[in-house]
Amino acid sequence: MYKGSVTDEAREVLRAIELIQLGARMPVLEKELMLSRNRLIRVYRELKSNSPPKGMLPFSADWYFTWLPNIHASLFYNIFLFLKDTAKCSRLDALTRAYRLYIEHCEHSNSERVLSFTRAWTLLRFFDGGLLTLSRCQVCRGRFVRQINDAYKPFTCSLCAPPSRAGATRNPLASQRATALLPAPGGA
Ligand SMILES: [Zn+2]
Repeated sequence: MYKGSVTDEAREVLRAIELIQLGARMPVLEKELMLSRNRLIRVYRELKSNSPPKGMLPFSADWYFTWLPNIHASLFYNIFLFLKDTAKCSRLDALTRAYRLYIEHCEHSNSERVLSFTRAWTLLRFFDGGLLTLSRCQVCRGRFVRQINDAYKPFTCSLCAPPSRAGATRNPLASQRATALLPAPGGA
């Protein structure tokens, strides 16, 4: 049972609605919001006319290092960091806004949405847990998601050196420089 004020509860329900519309699953909602599991299930059912799917969240970070997910995850995480650190959004606001901007970017560039909301959320958890870091591509200087152990190893991103199979995939993101990944003019 939620013990906060009615307005706080209303705010939490609105957040739940936003997260569910973006594709959040139950474990994400339970982690991010103060509402009870039953309340969240009710909101979910009302919105989706279906029960929330069961099953575990992805638990391996390997997915983020394959070439296409790496580009998408890096784009999303750079937007997230800008919103959190420069625009001073709360973590949850930065997450939802960054994900919306990511969706918009995919739509504008006519590319497939490779990163699901659950994957975006899990990415933040891996960063929080110290498993991942961002490091700069030695060619374009864009910042990409890397394993913490590889942080100081020089590398070339898959936008600068796409794998040969990249041509077979319909992915305009990989053939253009994703501007959000590039350092600001004059930046380090
Ligand atoms: Zn590069």
